[in-house]
Amino acid sequence: MTESHSFQTRLLHNNHKFDSQTGAVSVPIQQASTFHQADFDNPGVYDYSRSGNPTRDALEETIAGLEGGSRGFAFASGMAAISTSFMLLSKEDHVVISEDVYGGTFRMIHDVLYRFGIDHTFVNMTDLHEVATAIQPNTKVLYIETPSNPLLNITDIQAVSKLAKANGCLTFVDNTFMTPALQRPLELGADLVLHSATKFIAGHSDVVAGLAVTNHPELSEQLSFLQNSFGSILGAHDCWLVLRGLKTLDCRLKQSSESAYKVATYLHGHPQVEEVYYPGFSTHPGASTHAYQSSGSGAVLSFRLKDEAEVRSFSQKIELPVFAVSLGAVESILSYPAKMSHAAMPEKERLKRGITDGLLRLSVGLENPDDLIKDFETGLAYVKARNNLSSVQSV
Ligand SMILES: *Cc1c(COP(=O)(O)O)cnc(C)c1O
Repeated sequence: MTESHSFQTRLLHNNHKFDSQTGAVSVPIQQASTFHQADFDNPGVYDYSRSGNPTRDALEETIAGLEGGSRGFAFASGMAAISTSFMLLSKEDHVVISEDVYGGTFRMIHDVLYRFGIDHTFVNMTDLHEVATAIQPNTKVLYIETPSNPLLNITDIQAVSKLAKANGCLTFVDNTFMTPALQRPLELGADLVLHSATKFIAGHSDVVAGLAVTNHPELSEQLSFLQNSFGSILGAHDCWLVLRGLKTLDCRLKQSSESAYKVATYLHGHPQVEEVYYPGFSTHPGASTHAYQSSGSGAVLSFRLKDEAEVRSFSQKIELPVFAVSLGAVESILSYPAKMSHAAMPEKERLKRGITDGLLRLSVGLENPDDLIKDFETGLAYVKARNNLSSVQSV
């Protein structure tokens, strides 16, 4: 890969631009599970596809280059990447982890690893003092997600990584919301970057995949061993889908971020909307930290209506966004954290984190933003009309 080229160009012009044997301008999908060994004293590069596969190698090498790491790993899902990385830990180790971490990561730490004797402390990662206080002699990992879900809280990657190094800990960063197009945590001192490639990296709501990238030789060896031991690898066909999605990552994210800013600004000015959370607003908490460590605000925003009844009216009326979990796709996706991503969280915990019954999260896709705004205008007008009607009825 030519490092002198920009990120945008390197998405297309890398070692896998064409197949060295045939010149095919698309990475071949190698479905074989096993590989013939002409000489058992000198095995070939590949022997069995859990341990190594040419299509997966192409994806792993590509993502490593894009994140500025030395080695990448592809897994069957974002959770498989995250869970396998936690296998770096041992009994009696401790993790300091962001309290507004992705629900599946919360579940893994809280309900699974705990049973294996791996302890944790949930902290507000935006508060460095709180993070420092939570570090114990047996702390091995500081785990960050920034911007976080669904309120887009910003954690200072460089400051947390420094704190981790000073205490002999590793820093893991879930970079799903930003992707290497907008944020490269390894360059800021993190040790391991994790992705749900299901989201922006693949980008088309048609594949579930996970990635991990590091720049430590030792961590690479350990992860390679764990990937083969645990076995939750990404299949060849899915690797190809992720590679295909990656080619358009930069232009998809640019367009979606631009539209997200437009939609966020519209929502911010609407009397029916109580609050808008978007890292691109200079008034957003941590906006300057985000601007320092990232080159864009991303395509995800959240906004608050009054209550569940308003969310119900609004979601009944709007037509364009898919109403679903997930994010980072070509089509806009609207989700309702209280009933979807955070449904399992006790109500008190949920409300404490600001995830009220009126909160909606929007991942902006590639529609014309004016069409999205028009759709939202209709939805919000309906909310208002319903409110007027019920206040008339209650008189
Ligand atoms: C979706 C998501 C995950 C989990 O990824 P899967 O591919 O669904 O397993 C992890 N972290 C974040 C931030 C996510 O949005």
